[in-house]
Amino acid sequence: MDNVDNLSNLSNLKNLDNTIENFIDGQYQAPLNNNYLDNIEPATGLVYGKIPNSDQDDVEQAVKAAEQALPAWRSLDLEQRADYLMAIAQEIEHQLEPLALAEAQDNGKPISLAKMVDIPRAASNFKFFAHACSQFASESHAMNNTAINYTLRQPVGIVGCISPWNLPLYLFTWKIAPALAAGNCVIAKPSEITPKTAAMLGEICQKVGLPKGVLNILHGNGATVGSAICNHPKIKAISFTGGTATGAEIATQLAPKFKKLSLELGGKNPALIFDDCNIDKTINEVFRASFANQGQICLCASRLYVQRGIYEKFKSALVEKAKKLIPADPLLDDTKMGAIVSKAHLDKVLSYIEIAKEEGGTILAGGKQVLGEGRCQRGYFLQPTIIEGLSNSATCNQQEIFGPVITIQPFDTDEQALALANESDYGLAATIWTNNLSRAHQLAEQINTGIVWINCWLLRDLRTPFGGMNHSGVGREGGLEAMRFFTEPKNVCIKY
Ligand code: NAD
Repeated sequence: MDNVDNLSNLSNLKNLDNTIENFIDGQYQAPLNNNYLDNIEPATGLVYGKIPNSDQDDVEQAVKAAEQALPAWRSLDLEQRADYLMAIAQEIEHQLEPLALAEAQDNGKPISLAKMVDIPRAASNFKFFAHACSQFASESHAMNNTAINYTLRQPVGIVGCISPWNLPLYLFTWKIAPALAAGNCVIAKPSEITPKTAAMLGEICQKVGLPKGVLNILHGNGATVGSAICNHPKIKAISFTGGTATGAEIATQLAPKFKKLSLELGGKNPALIFDDCNIDKTINEVFRASFANQGQICLCASRLYVQRGIYEKFKSALVEKAKKLIPADPLLDDTKMGAIVSKAHLDKVLSYIEIAKEEGGTILAGGKQVLGEGRCQRGYFLQPTIIEGLSNSATCNQQEIFGPVITIQPFDTDEQALALANESDYGLAATIWTNNLSRAHQLAEQINTGIVWINCWLLRDLRTPFGGMNHSGVGREGGLEAMRFFTEPKNVCIKY
């Protein structure tokens, strides 16, 4: 395996070795309890590293480091703060190859995807918020001939950032960058399932000379170290991305503590495909929206509603493409579909396919685990799966599967399509595929999701509000929304 063999030549980052450590006060250190968890490579099913099983004591240390760093960081000249963020971005770009390789190995995603999307986006997150440092402004309200109000936006203080496994460095940095840009010190925790690139970020911070204690990175289980971060009295805001059930648990714990809380949670995203769409382009894009990253993107389309006039044609084309997409070793340069992130997750996704069959669904493509070749014989590979014939209230149309499994059903009118799309507890992202502009605008207005893409998917402008409604979360990330979340507004009123 060329990419694996090349691992040590690709980087001067030490954390490519397979026991990773916490990053506290600018230094790597073992968890205080000296306890470690196994890190499993999804493509091989084998343990390939160890990660700290941190707890409350490590959080305590990280908070102390952040407390010490905070006064200087929050009062740093904005241009200097921006320079640090820009330097981190540049170093991520410089380390594209090793970071992409680590991400592919740790998560099971195709290395080409990590190189094209995950790692460049992590760099963009830091670049974007480096600029935001100097562009962020606050309001002033004049009261005629009486007084003027101005609003200060001050850093919250020490904040916690907790992220999931599906886009590891991409989502980790999407929180950390604005938190730092706004002048906070950060205690961050990546998913215990994909900790590697987060660990490497510490070394990048060392390299660019980020002041000690400004960013602290802890590893371990959500229920222990994640929960300790959320509940620490000196951590004043939590930005969380993950499952809806976890979000509900955190919200329940934190409500009486009155912390700022941003929750980016699960989705069950509808794609509305109309007879008048550009069919060839739509087939390709909807296929990508369904199966990119093995369907493990919170924004992936998972419920396809296709207007009856093109239903059969669209369905056959999609099924044909799915049958040709063979999961393979994520470290091969030409792999388009990699491994499911863990055995537990694979079993969960497979269990939904069984439920679909029991509830009357027909498997049009896929549905089965695949054995990999060579080193991947014990990996967690699953065929891209398309299911037809389920009612809209069926389990697979209502619960998030978060894997390469989609359902497809026909509709006749715009009203039907809208009703089907909105019959969901979730409300993250929808896509609409049509050449009728007025229909597209009307539906976009009425659909209950935080994000709507028309004739595209995952086209991102980092200035726009990002997030969902209902069971998909509370609050928005991105652009000014993120800068507002990570600051505390204070109104000052001066009477003339
Ligand atoms: P998860 O909820 O199991 O874990 C997410 C993170 O929370 C991990 O770091 C985990 O260790 C931590 N955690 C778990 N329990 C915790 C607790 N009690 N207190 C504090 N932290 C805790 O989610 P996952 O399986 O890692 O990720 C998949 C989910 O994330 C899916 O539902 C997906 O839709 C969602 N997601 C949402 C978005 C979005 O922007 N809306 C983006 C990506 C993923």
